[in-house]
Amino acid sequence: MSVDPLVIIGAGQAAGQLVASLVQERFAGRVTIVGDESHPPYQRPPLSKKFLAGEIELDRLFVKPAAFYDKAGTTLMLDTRVAGIDRQARAIKTEAGATLRYSALVIATGSRPRPLALPGADLEGVMYLRTIADVQAIRRHLEPGRRLVIVGGGYIGLELAAVAAKRGVAVTVLEQAPRVMARGVGPIVSAFYERLHREEGVTIATGTAVTGFDGDGRLEQVICDGLRLAADLVVVGVGAIPNSELAREAGLAVDNGIVVDAQCRTQDPAIHAIGDCASQSHPLLDQRLRLESVHSALEQARTVAAAICGRPAPTVQTPWFWSDQYDVKLQMAGLSARHDVVVVRGDPDRGRSFAVFYLRQGELIAVDAVNRAPEFMMSKQLIAERSQVDPAKLGDERVAMKDVRL
Ligand SMILES: Cc1cc2nc3c(=O)[nH]c(=O)nc-3n(C[C@H](O)[C@H](O)[C@H](O)COP(=O)(O)OP(=O)(O)OC[C@H]3O[C@@H](n4cnc5c(N)ncnc54)[C@H](O)[C@@H]3O)c2cc1C
Repeated sequence: MSVDPLVIIGAGQAAGQLVASLVQERFAGRVTIVGDESHPPYQRPPLSKKFLAGEIELDRLFVKPAAFYDKAGTTLMLDTRVAGIDRQARAIKTEAGATLRYSALVIATGSRPRPLALPGADLEGVMYLRTIADVQAIRRHLEPGRRLVIVGGGYIGLELAAVAAKRGVAVTVLEQAPRVMARGVGPIVSAFYERLHREEGVTIATGTAVTGFDGDGRLEQVICDGLRLAADLVVVGVGAIPNSELAREAGLAVDNGIVVDAQCRTQDPAIHAIGDCASQSHPLLDQRLRLESVHSALEQARTVAAAICGRPAPTVQTPWFWSDQYDVKLQMAGLSARHDVVVVRGDPDRGRSFAVFYLRQGELIAVDAVNRAPEFMMSKQLIAERSQVDPAKLGDERVAMKDVRL
């Protein structure tokens, strides 16, 4: 009798890495990935960067070429949406009514754009940016002279603004919060990005709430604060919500994501959850977190592959993230939320290169590095070591980063 496969729901970045890690760990069983998109697992970061800009081709997005999955003994069931999990029977049901039994299940369903529930949000011309199909639709509109309004000044919205502005599109970003990227970076970095975009010709309005959209079948205007802004295209980027419904309906704990322990186990020993959909007791940070980042998806995939193959859990690194806008690379490591001191190296008000460090009781806990790869790399190490640092040295460009420890 053949053993049921390991089934992965969702064919995204986490699923692709999980298969790659299982191959590395010499997993002997069969794997089936069930994903509702038409593509094998692919990387999303380029969707708002080089792929959107037309600088790289579609095949560069794939985590692994299709032939890799064949060779790995992995079946890709694409264009197939999973509708339910029967934990008793250890089986999943697809929307088309097929049943597939599993020996172990990994939920890697990612997240989806938070929809805007506003009048006119369903008009043609109001779009979101999450998938290859979304980019292909948006790209058609990015022509010189077109008017693009981006709702939400987060990473995705601002990366799109950068690409569109370079193409000669008239871009306006509307952000409800008092500053852009408020959920990810501190005020100094937000102020820098507002300046950067203005220098590149993008209009940014913070503290501005959109109340609806208007048009005759197709989008013509964005309504905000009683004003009407003419627009050819709107892209909404106001955050993402985890795809955790399957887990919830199967009776698993969900709290802003599928609740998992440090090894990504749910309460059901046969089910793990990884990637954007998982809310993990973070092995380093002493709190439960749902991180929407490639680094987190990759680490969780490696952790689960090791667990499935009976190997020790791999070492986990400090969480990190990046964003590319124009000629500026932002690299962030650690979590700054609980800082008590901020130190700046370089001048955020001039030029395009500086770093902001976040300390807590003398310990470096996070960094936002703007075109400062050396500061980023060294900070990652210091954060992992839980090093006490000297704020005066940290802020002094003449002192090498390797010498900032106390
Ligand atoms: C435009 C964009 C830019 C980004 N840029 C960065 C960046 O610069 N740096 C960074 O670290 N992170 C970035 N991210 C975030 C990063 O891409 C995600 O954290 C990562 O993709 C998470 O991987 P995942 O496998 O959990 O989810 P995904 O890659 O989203 O994959 C989940 C898959 O599961 C599918 N699915 C969901 N429900 C079902 C179901 N019921 N049945 C079958 N399939 C299902 C989904 O359709 C999707 O294909 C970006 C994301 C976007 C959208």
